[in-house]
Amino acid sequence: CGNFADLVALQARAAPDRIAIICDGEQIDYAGLNARADCIAASLQRDGVVSGGVVAICAASSIDYAAIFIATLRAGAAIAPLSPSATPAQLAAMIADSTPSYLFVDAAAAAHLAAVDGLAFITLGAAFDAWLAPPGTTPTPVEVTAEQAFNIIYSSGTTGTPKGIVQSFAMRWPHNHLGDPPGYGPGVVAVISTPLYSNTTLVSFLPTLAGGGTMVLMPRFDAREFLVLSERHHANIAMLVPVQYRRILDVSDFDAFDLSSYRMKYATSAPFSAELKAEVLQRWPGGLVEYYGMTEGGGSCMLVAHEHPDKLHTVGRPMDGHEMLVIDADGNAAPPGVPGEVVGRSRSMMNGYRNQPEKSAEAEWFDPAGVRYIRTGDIASVDAQGFFTLIGRAKDMIISGGINLYPIDLESVLNEHPAVIESAVVGVASREWGETPVAFVTMRTPLEAEALRSWANQRLGKMQRISAVQIVDELPRNAIGKIVKRALQDRYAAEQT
Ligand code: ATP
Ligand code: MG
Repeated sequence: CGNFADLVALQARAAPDRIAIICDGEQIDYAGLNARADCIAASLQRDGVVSGGVVAICAASSIDYAAIFIATLRAGAAIAPLSPSATPAQLAAMIADSTPSYLFVDAAAAAHLAAVDGLAFITLGAAFDAWLAPPGTTPTPVEVTAEQAFNIIYSSGTTGTPKGIVQSFAMRWPHNHLGDPPGYGPGVVAVISTPLYSNTTLVSFLPTLAGGGTMVLMPRFDAREFLVLSERHHANIAMLVPVQYRRILDVSDFDAFDLSSYRMKYATSAPFSAELKAEVLQRWPGGLVEYYGMTEGGGSCMLVAHEHPDKLHTVGRPMDGHEMLVIDADGNAAPPGVPGEVVGRSRSMMNGYRNQPEKSAEAEWFDPAGVRYIRTGDIASVDAQGFFTLIGRAKDMIISGGINLYPIDLESVLNEHPAVIESAVVGVASREWGETPVAFVTMRTPLEAEALRSWANQRLGKMQRISAVQIVDELPRNAIGKIVKRALQDRYAAEQT
C-alpha cells in the first residue's frame, strides 16, 4: 500500500504550477506545497519523529495545515487533527490519549490551550517558520506498512466523549475508502468549508489533492462568502453538511450567483431532509451525492440523489465493497421495512478505539459465521430495493410508556408548520411515562409555544404527544453542524430543578 503524501509529490512533478490551495487570499501551487511539506517532514525527522510516530495539529484550516498533514505522512507518522472548538479539558484528554511528539497550533488555539498546564506546542506563523529547516531541505524517504496508523481522528462527540479512531494507511489508500467519488477527475476545484480535522472534510480533501485539483479552503464558514468563492473560482465540487446547504440556499441573492460550473455536491454527517435535497437539486446546478457512514469505517451508503428523485428520503444503498445489514434486538437480519440497528463491514474498518478496549468490544458485531461487522448505533430500515432510511440514533430513541418513539417522526410533523425552521425532539425524564418527548424549535415567524404544541399534537398519535415545546434562537451544534441533543436534555433538566 502506498502513501497519500507520494501522490502529492507526483502531482508536483506532473503540474508544478497548478494551484493546489487557495485560502484567505493566498495561494500555493503544487511545487510550492510539495516543497513546504518536504521541509516540514525534514524538520520533524531532524527532531526525532520516526515512522510510526504521531504529530497533532489544532488549528483552523490553512495552507500550512495542509502542508503539515502531508509532511507528517511523508515522515511516516500519523496525524492527529484536533478540533479547536473542543474545550481545553477535552483537548488535554485527546493529547494525553494520542501522545503526539509535536503539537502545532494556530494563534487562536494557542490562547485556548494556554489553560492546559505543561503543554508544549509550536504556533503557526513566526515561531513555526523559525522552527523549520531551511527551504529546500528534503526528508529521508520512509516506507510505511498498510497497518500503520495514518491518522487518529476523534469522533464528533455527538453522543459522549470523543473516541480516538485509528485509520490505517490501507484505509486511506489510494485516497479514501469511498472509492472514486463521482464528479472528480481532471480540473477539480473544490470549496472546502468544513474544518480540516473532521473525517467529513477528509473525504473531499484527500481525493482533491491526490487528483491534482484545486482546493479553496474556508477557515470560517460564511454562506454568502461560499457563493462568492464558488463563482470566482468556478468551483465544481462542494462538500457540505446539511445545515450549510440550508444557510446557503437562504442567502437572499442566492439566485444571482452563477453556479453553472458545479459538477457535483456532496453531503454527509447529519440528517438531510428529502425537502432540502429536492431544493438543492432544483436550485443548484450539478448532481448531489449523500454519504452515510461513520469515522469508524465499517460500511457506508451512498445516495446519488439526481438519479433517484423518488428516494430522497433515504441515504441510498451500501457502496461497492460495503456490506450493511439491519439487525433486530436478537441479532437477526430484520425484514424489509422493519427498523433495527445498522451494522456494516468493508475493507475499511477501524481495529478499535484507541486505549478503549471495552468501547471497542461494544462496537463489534459478529454474524453467525463469525464475520466481524461494526455497529453504528443508528436505527434504520431497508426497503425492497435496498435503500436505507435512517430513523435516528439508538441513543436518541425515547421510550415513553413502554413505546419506542423516534424523534424524527415528531420532528417531521413540527417541521411541516410554516412558521418552523427546524426542530429537535429529545426525551426527558417523566414520572408518569418514564420518558416523554420535549421539542426545541427555531421559528421563521413568531408563534406561541403552546399553540405549536397543540397544532403538532393534533397530528401525532396519542402515545407520541409532545409534553413541552420551547422556542429557541438557535439549536446547539458541534463544529461539524450536528445538533447536540445531550445539551438540550441537560438544559431542560437544569431548568426543571
Ligand atoms: P460520536 O460517535 O462521538 O457520538 P458521531 O457519531 O457524530 O460522534 P461521526 O463518526 O462523525 O461521529 O458521525 C457518524 C454518525 O453521523 C453516524 O453514526 C450517523 O448517526 C450520522 N450520519 C452520518 N452520515 C449521515 C447521513 N447521511 N444522514 C444522517 N446521519 C448521518
Ligand atoms: Mg459515532
